[in-house]
Amino acid sequence: MGMGKVVSVAIDGPAAAGKSTVAKKVASILGFTYIDTGAMYRAVTWAVIKKGFDPKDEDQSVTLLPGMEIELLPDGRVICNHEDVTKVIREPLVSGNVSYIAAMKPIRLALVDMQRTMAQKKSVVMDGRDIGTYVLPDADVKIYQIASVETRAVRRYDENVLKGINTTLKEVEEDVRKRDYIDSHREFAPLKPAVDSVLIDTSFMTVDQAVDAVLKVISAKTGIEIPCH
Ligand code: C5P
Repeated sequence: MGMGKVVSVAIDGPAAAGKSTVAKKVASILGFTYIDTGAMYRAVTWAVIKKGFDPKDEDQSVTLLPGMEIELLPDGRVICNHEDVTKVIREPLVSGNVSYIAAMKPIRLALVDMQRTMAQKKSVVMDGRDIGTYVLPDADVKIYQIASVETRAVRRYDENVLKGINTTLKEVEEDVRKRDYIDSHREFAPLKPAVDSVLIDTSFMTVDQAVDAVLKVISAKTGIEIPCH
C-alpha cells in the first residue's frame, strides 16, 4: 500500500468463532498487521495470576497496570514484561479467568489505548470483542463473525489438542459459554455487533471460505483489490 491511506478492519465476535485464524490470513494476504487484542487481556490475566493475585479482585489486579508492557511480535509471539507468554496464555487457567480481568474498566482503558496507538500508523486487521463498537468506531470495515457454540467448542478443542493443551470437549464448551456470558453482560464495552457490522456465520464454512467472505466485504467497502492468494 506504500504511502496510501491507513485502513482498519475490525473483526469481533464470541469466543472461538475462528476470528484469529481468519484475521491472520486476511492480514497476510493484504499485507496488513494482525493485532490479537484477546492475547493482550490474556497476558494481563497471566501477570495477575503469576503475581499470586486474585483475577476477580479489581483493586489488586489494577496495581499491575503501571509500567506493564505488552508486545505482539510479527511472528505471533506475545511478550509481557519481557517474558514470552505465548504458550501459557492459552492454558485453561488463563482462559477461565480472562473474562473477569477484561470486565475491569481501568484495564480496558489501558489496553484500548495501546490498541488505538497500534492502529494509528499502519493498516491493521484487529480482532476482539469491542473493536468495531469501541476501540475503532471509525474502522473502514467491521465484521461480526459467529458460529454455533457446538461448532466453536469442537474447533477450539481440536486446536487445543494440536497445541498440547489438555482439556476435554465438555470443558472447552463450558469455558466458551461462560466467557460469552461474562463478555456480553459486562457494563463497559461489552461484546455485541456494531450497528454497521457485516455478519458472517462460519458454522458451515471452511477457513478459506470464511477468509474469502471477509476479503469480499473489505473489497466492497474500501475498493482495495484483493491480491491472488
Ligand atoms: O480473543 P480471545 O478469546 O483470546 O479473548 C480472550 C478474552 O479476552 C475474551 O473472552 C474477553 O474476555 C477478552 N477480550 C475482550 N475484548 C477484546 C478481546 C478480548 O474483552 N477486544
